[in-house]
Amino acid sequence: MSENCIFCKIANGEIPSQFVYESDNVVVFNDINPQAPVHMLVVPKVHVESLNELEDKNLMAELFKAVKKSTKKLNIKDYRTVINTGKEAGQEVFHLHIHVMAGRKFSWPAG
Ligand code: AMP
Ligand code: ZN
Repeated sequence: MSENCIFCKIANGEIPSQFVYESDNVVVFNDINPQAPVHMLVVPKVHVESLNELEDKNLMAELFKAVKKSTKKLNIKDYRTVINTGKEAGQEVFHLHIHVMAGRKFSWPAG
């Protein structure tokens, strides 16, 4: 757990929140500032700063399993996943997370 990390606090229950899905090492909760009707964040319980620091292949697999479990739970088949890595790419919270967005049409390429 990294001090003053908001996602550590959420993932470890220090800040009470409702999880869409939870497994041993991963939680899924709603984004506070949703960019789509459905906007969830898939977050490892352990503090990993970004995808660049993710070495654990099992955790990698568990994160993507959580994407599938939570979309399936909400009966969502079309969705966009985004991982911002680094400031230049738009990362603002430096605890790895996968954005999962659905419920509207998305354009490509993204800006
Ligand atoms: P990123 O820019 O990829 O680092 O995304 C950070 C995301 O975290 C943004 O979409 C924020 O709206 C979201 N966020 C920040 N604080 C919270 C919070 N306390 N609960 C839920 N989502 C949050
Ligand atoms: Zn953290």
